[in-house]
Amino acid sequence: IFVFALMAGQIVKAAGTDPEMFQQLLGFLLRYSLVVILGLAFMVFVFYPALVALTVKKISWRRFASGMRDAQITAFSTSSSVATLPVTMDCVNKNLGVSTRTTSFVLPIGATVNMDGTSLYQAVAVVALAQFHMVDLSLAQQAVIVLTATLASIGAAAVPSAGLVLMIIVLESVGLNPGWIALIFPVDRILDMCRTVVNVTGDAGVSSMIAASENEIDIPETDAAAA
Ligand code: ASP
Repeated sequence: IFVFALMAGQIVKAAGTDPEMFQQLLGFLLRYSLVVILGLAFMVFVFYPALVALTVKKISWRRFASGMRDAQITAFSTSSSVATLPVTMDCVNKNLGVSTRTTSFVLPIGATVNMDGTSLYQAVAVVALAQFHMVDLSLAQQAVIVLTATLASIGAAAVPSAGLVLMIIVLESVGLNPGWIALIFPVDRILDMCRTVVNVTGDAGVSSMIAASENEIDIPETDAAAA
């Protein structure tokens, strides 16, 4: 409720007193948020569980999805991969059976470097902002966006709203106005909560795959049968 109240205040601030501008901005923010959330949901519910189930035989789709629940809820409420790290390590270790040797090495690196949710969000946001301002992006510019969004997400700190700040680099890389981020600021908190869930799920997915390649996954027989 408070996140939505915060968003409402920001939208009114950005639109000023013009009701037409308010309507236009609201429509834009709704469509943009929906696209980002759909993309992130695909990563969390389809892409990562399927990738892990396909590459790691010992971890089923269901085990991965349910085993990561606590870490995902913590990521959603804190908007920070680093703040979620202890819970992620616990989930990956206890529920997915990945050895501590792997989790203690892979997850801290993943929390700071691997932010696929953030890069997805940055790429969608830049294209949406360009469309809102009627700017046509060439294919080469779109490729630059993909590249700089990936690099910016690697450089982003694992704290709330870091992705939004680093989006300035992505906007500047294709000659767009960095000040445009003010437009999407009102909905950033809720999208930050969602993209942090993807970032954390990605870290868990990668560490499971690395553990499988090193033969370091140990799931108790009774647990494996239940999954
Ligand atoms: N809040 C995100 C994280 O901690 C980073 C961001 O995209 O702002 O993973």
